[in-house]
Amino acid sequence: MDKAFHQGMKIIEELEKSGHEAYFVGGSVRDTLMNRAIGDIDIATSATPQDIQRIFPKTIDVGAEHGTIIVLTAENESFEVTTYRTESQYSDNRRPDQVTFVKSLFEDLKRRDFTMNAIAMTKTGTIVDPFQGEKDIKRKIIRSVGIPRERFQEDALRMLRAIRFASQLSFSLESNTFLAIMNDHERLHSISVERKTAEIEKLLAGIGLKYCLELLVKTKLYKHLPELSDKKSKLLELSTKNLCNLNSRSALWAAFVHVLEIEQIDDFLTSWKLPKKVIKAVEHNIAIITNVQKYGWNKELIYQMGLKQSIEAHEVLVALNPDTETSNLHIENLYKSLPIKNKKEIVFNGHDLIKIAGEKRGKWIAELYQDMELAIIHGSTANDRAVLKEWVEKWLQKYEKSY
Ligand code: ATP
Ligand code: MG
Repeated sequence: MDKAFHQGMKIIEELEKSGHEAYFVGGSVRDTLMNRAIGDIDIATSATPQDIQRIFPKTIDVGAEHGTIIVLTAENESFEVTTYRTESQYSDNRRPDQVTFVKSLFEDLKRRDFTMNAIAMTKTGTIVDPFQGEKDIKRKIIRSVGIPRERFQEDALRMLRAIRFASQLSFSLESNTFLAIMNDHERLHSISVERKTAEIEKLLAGIGLKYCLELLVKTKLYKHLPELSDKKSKLLELSTKNLCNLNSRSALWAAFVHVLEIEQIDDFLTSWKLPKKVIKAVEHNIAIITNVQKYGWNKELIYQMGLKQSIEAHEVLVALNPDTETSNLHIENLYKSLPIKNKKEIVFNGHDLIKIAGEKRGKWIAELYQDMELAIIHGSTANDRAVLKEWVEKWLQKYEKSY
């Protein structure tokens, strides 16, 4: 069993000591059975949220009414511990309307989306698998627990989740699960954007992107995603790409908007409800990519956008065009060769300027500093006070002649 489960084991032991049942459930169990690196570890238990809060000294209430409490270990690792529950419809599309706590693990597993996600594991690694999830994992199949149509009617997001898992795990959809999505794709329309965005991000970063973009198109689910209803052919174009090496949100979304040829990036990403900070970083990535495609990598660009953003944009370019010859090292070397890394490093300051030009203020000062900055970056003057003094005198002579 993965080492990461050791802390979780202690939580299960504590719950058992108090007379409750507790199991590892969800993605971590699935990923263990697949020998895949595990993400978050979730625990399901017969204990109520109040029991959980009573048993553990450090907890965070993230949704006790829905059964979920975060338990913090002495090492400050956090585990989601959720009371066995069933849930009814999600009419706000975020949280189930009604959660009913139940007594049996079986009931809890039955409400889960796919057989591979409905497996529990005891603290000693024994598998509890009432829906033959392990068999489906072996066959690389995503199959709804129960009747797919009913399960998608309860929560339409599951249709998109099926396809994101297909991308993440490189699995295919079991035929009835697929057919139910074909029939019921319109239901996705009512799901909140935030839930769709979370799934699409995982989908874009998956190793099975090609198959799953084809599925998004074939099932028509793409029609119910923000601003994508007229992007069928572009989505299929994206399916020739592989974005799984991109590990930041802004890199992924930059690749997405670039292939989709989105012009109003801010509007597009706002409709996906991305945070402003991510949107800005995507815009910077696209600005860099556009510049590089026109002029190639150059010092001025790297100076203006900074090394970190330039490397990120480069990674997007490589993902979109694996034949790209430029290496990260080339960009790092260009950055290293910059005589200054930002304006503040210019040694010629405002006082020096007043000494030469007197007190006259005007927009020429900004112009001069901009020209000076570029001259230093391009190496046409040294960043040295005496040299810059001469440079400024020449600049002022030229400036006076032209005005
Ligand atoms: P990942 O590794 O990407 O986090 P995961 O399987 O852990 O995958 P989560 O979204 O974290 O996926 O959900 C945890 C578990 O909760 C799932 O494995 C599944 O059992 C259950 N689950 C989550 N969302 C739903 C849903 N909409 N309907 C039914 N069950 C769900
Ligand atoms: Mg998870």
